[in-house]
Amino acid sequence: MSFLEQYDVVIGLEIHAELNTKTKVFCGCKNQFGQTPNTNTCPVCTGMPGALPILNKHAVELAIKSGLSFGCEISPYSVFERKNYFYPDLSKAYQISQLVYPLCVGGHITLDSGKTIRLNRIHLEEDAGKLTHLGKATGSLVDYNRGGTPLIEMVTEPDLSSANEAVEFLKKVREALIFEEIANCKMEEGGMRCDVNLSLMKKGSKEYGTRTEMKNLNSFKSVQRAIEYEAERQAEVLASGGVIVQETRKWDDEKGESFAMRSKEQAQDYRYFPDPDLLPIQISKENIEHIKSEMVMLPSDRRTRYMEEFGLPEYDAQILTSTRYISDYFEKCVQHFNAPKKISNWIMVDLLKLVKDQEEFTFPVSEEHLSTIIKMVEEKTINKTVGLQLLDKVIETGKEPLALAKEMNLLVTITDEQIIELLEKLKSENAKVVDDFKKTPEKVIGFIVGYVMKNTGGKANSNRVRELIAEKF
Ligand code: ADP
Ligand code: MG
Ligand code: ZN
Repeated sequence: MSFLEQYDVVIGLEIHAELNTKTKVFCGCKNQFGQTPNTNTCPVCTGMPGALPILNKHAVELAIKSGLSFGCEISPYSVFERKNYFYPDLSKAYQISQLVYPLCVGGHITLDSGKTIRLNRIHLEEDAGKLTHLGKATGSLVDYNRGGTPLIEMVTEPDLSSANEAVEFLKKVREALIFEEIANCKMEEGGMRCDVNLSLMKKGSKEYGTRTEMKNLNSFKSVQRAIEYEAERQAEVLASGGVIVQETRKWDDEKGESFAMRSKEQAQDYRYFPDPDLLPIQISKENIEHIKSEMVMLPSDRRTRYMEEFGLPEYDAQILTSTRYISDYFEKCVQHFNAPKKISNWIMVDLLKLVKDQEEFTFPVSEEHLSTIIKMVEEKTINKTVGLQLLDKVIETGKEPLALAKEMNLLVTITDEQIIELLEKLKSENAKVVDDFKKTPEKVIGFIVGYVMKNTGGKANSNRVRELIAEKF
């Protein structure tokens, strides 16, 4: 029996995500991962004396979008503060952040179970540089390129109760941020990372226990394992009569365990105070409305719409909303040709395989051209195999599918108009056939069909020809 059975697990997350801006949050340096170390820097982001920060409007807009995505109140007035501490990756010796007046307040995310996880706040701040530790003898390297990159920090209330809930929550956050193009959330690049606060509470009790904090977890897997490990560890400490000390712990992903870094007594006083170089951010209702108008429907809402309005299976809805690009592409196709399930099949089976293994892609055919091809197949002017050949050719040449199909002589059937034209021609040239058809249709129908076939190179649909003969003769 696990000691954990007597307790409820209580978890609160602090999530950092790097915003999708072209430049840093207080200077004009590029916000770009993977550059030569210390090339994206300037006096402002390295904190040279006398350098002055200038706020990046786009960063504020993206942070507001994140708040709107999760139902936060957007503060009409928020303040940047300096969080003072020394560390080699922070050359200014303070981080510009928000404390008393954050940009976004409250909000929530609903899990699939229906459980609501409350957000406390989302604020805007800057990232620090990056240290690479080479070992005791060689020392460490510092790269300030990341210093001054805009970050949002989302803080939840302690509403999560398991590793699975925490991971589901993080996935939902990540999906929404990517979808709205607020942040890329590339976890392997540190674009999204998370601190886990965890405590145990005796079943039935209403009083929170003492919590520990594990910082900078950067994969779903490590969040999952760190939570499972820490919950067990705390349960064992409590079961053996010990107490939990409030401390920061480091999760070692290789060892699969965490160890204490610093306790509350060693915690620093950051001496927060309003940054005198930056004015408070003031946001009007109009600003917020404008930002809201640029936002798209979130993936979960789109999934519901695809299932309810388009009648798609959940599986399709899931894949089609896996990125904003695929979802927008699908919706544009449906606007061109209203056959959602057919379009879904083509995208899932025939298009996605063309771009598999590519992390970022655009489909090599326009929405309009793909819809035209699907329409031709559905209207049986070509069959599916020919449709796929046509798709290849459209991708290769970029030409309009219908024109290309004519050019390549791919149309297997002839239009009704062309058949009717031939029938009218036959009637005007050959009055006897008209008479014979009236008397003994079964004796001449073969002849008439043959006539149409001969004059269309055998490409007319013979059943359709028979139907049209019945109408026109
Ligand atoms: P700090 O600024 O010291 O990190 P906060 O009060 O801002 O403290 O809380 C940080 C995070 O810790 C929040 O996500 C919150 O939900 C979580 N938290 C607070 N109390 C507990 C607790 N007893 N158990 C688990 N998580 C907690
Ligand atoms: Mg904290
Ligand atoms: Zn700079």
